[in-house]
Amino acid sequence: MSEETAILITTARIGDVLPTEFLGLDVTQKSGIKTLAPPWWIIRDYKSGKMPWAEYAGIYHQLMRRSQAEHFDVWDSLVEAGAAGKVLCLQCYCRRGAHCHRHLLAQMIKEYAMAAGYEARIIEE
Ligand SMILES: [Zn+2]
Repeated sequence: MSEETAILITTARIGDVLPTEFLGLDVTQKSGIKTLAPPWWIIRDYKSGKMPWAEYAGIYHQLMRRSQAEHFDVWDSLVEAGAAGKVLCLQCYCRRGAHCHRHLLAQMIKEYAMAAGYEARIIEE
């Protein structure tokens, strides 16, 4: 547990060039860490207009809470990398400014790290 070092979390689009201190994390269902990605069915329903963003966000939140319980090793490894000085950079294909789960996930990782006793901060994209 470190008090002097805050865990930093940010977001980017896949393909963006990242500073070397960034740990780029593809969090997409298509090509990334599946335990942190939204499932295809909510992606499809949101993109087709059947599901409003608030509902998408609510379902994603629930799924990520389950992910924290079932795949805590993944979440803990992010916290460890952040505590070791890497800036956690969550990446998705969505263009900047669009609704994207990467921003929801950043907040959830921040809260997860803080619950584990760390300082954590989000750097805006
Ligand atoms: Zn996205």
